[in-house]
Amino acid sequence: MTTPIRTRFAPSPTGNVHIGNIRAAIYNWLFARHEGGEFLLRIEDTDLERSTPQAVRTVLDSMDWLGLDHDGEVLYQSTQREKHLEIAERLLSTGHAYKQDKGGTGKGECVVFRMPGKDITYHDEVKGDLTKKAEDLKDFVIVRSDGSPVFHLGNVVDDITMGVTHVIRGDDHVENTFKHIAMYEAIGAPVPKFAHLPMIVNAQGKPYSKRDGDAYVGEFREKGFLPSALFNSLALLGWSPGDDREVMTRDELVAAFTLDRVRSAPSQLDMTKLLWMNGQHLKALSPEDCAAGCREAMQRQGLWNDAIDPAYFRAVIDCMGERIRLFTDLGDNAAFFFTEDYPYDEKSVRKRLLKEGALDILREELALLEALPDFTAAASDAALHAFAEKTGRGMGDLVHPLRVAVSGTGVGPGLFEMLEVMGRDRVLSRIRRTLSRFA
Ligand code: GLU
Repeated sequence: MTTPIRTRFAPSPTGNVHIGNIRAAIYNWLFARHEGGEFLLRIEDTDLERSTPQAVRTVLDSMDWLGLDHDGEVLYQSTQREKHLEIAERLLSTGHAYKQDKGGTGKGECVVFRMPGKDITYHDEVKGDLTKKAEDLKDFVIVRSDGSPVFHLGNVVDDITMGVTHVIRGDDHVENTFKHIAMYEAIGAPVPKFAHLPMIVNAQGKPYSKRDGDAYVGEFREKGFLPSALFNSLALLGWSPGDDREVMTRDELVAAFTLDRVRSAPSQLDMTKLLWMNGQHLKALSPEDCAAGCREAMQRQGLWNDAIDPAYFRAVIDCMGERIRLFTDLGDNAAFFFTEDYPYDEKSVRKRLLKEGALDILREELALLEALPDFTAAASDAALHAFAEKTGRGMGDLVHPLRVAVSGTGVGPGLFEMLEVMGRDRVLSRIRRTLSRFA
């Protein structure tokens, strides 16, 4: 019988959850789910100053939001202290550790782990075979002179207690792994498999941090990212399914995930890509869910108004299409659809409306649009093209002033679709108001 796969996420709560850490959780979760194993959670809360109940809550909330459900009870490392010290005693009695008065301060003795005096080699599931020479492996403290267990002791003992078979964690723990393997061997416990994940880096190849932009799960959540999109993006940051798929559901990721496809090279976080991914996941929502998300965002942005007609709202969302990558994009870029008091962008006014002849063109367009039998995108498109042909003008000269007149800005969805969604009355009154304001 083979041992069932068991992974774990072992965060040290600090009040924020860095995307690099949550990506480790995602990989542990995906691997366990793919293998039909278990995914456990251990909170490494021995730093009592940082591991406040609030900081722990932040970890649990982030996992919950991303759908990272864990099996069994959460193990709080602080509850395992007796066990850690018991193992330290055992290591002392078997000669794998010794006591030392570090610095000879007389403040008490710490417990030091004795390295075995041989080279240590292990096969990393991501990085391949790694070796560290005996002379580079120094003895290290496992219990401080105040009697508190050190990270290495707690980490290894807890992984043994929890029966973890695969330790999947960040690159920054590679060096620790040689120490940990020596401890497993000294304790007489089976050594788990290790997989160290590449760093997430910025465009300069440096570790991605707060200074580079959003770096914590909570920030993406607040920005309005969908959990499925952040999950998908982080899963692809260091791993790929081996084909050209990018937009993947959670189930598709579970089915495809294997450790041998985790890359060992650092992975660069690309915010544009992340936004694109969010747009793709947004597209997959039902129109109702998408509308609800946009409405909520507009409420938070202070742009919502209960008089907005639901059908009009949905038509606007439809018209914006892929321009909505985040729920907040609607309010940020298309609020003009919903108010007659939309601001005019100064630069666009100067460049498009106050340009020689532009207001005369706008007057002609007003007449044309007023006379259209059907106020459809196709009809206004045809009418403007005919007008361009008749007058020998370029379409740009016709389209830009009209766009600025009805939206106040030079950027937005396709003009003719936009006109149709706005409807004749709104469009005509906006053109008239613009004319009286700038003429
Ligand atoms: N608490 C450690 C960390 O967050 C755990 C490392 C590990 O997964 O073993 O870095």
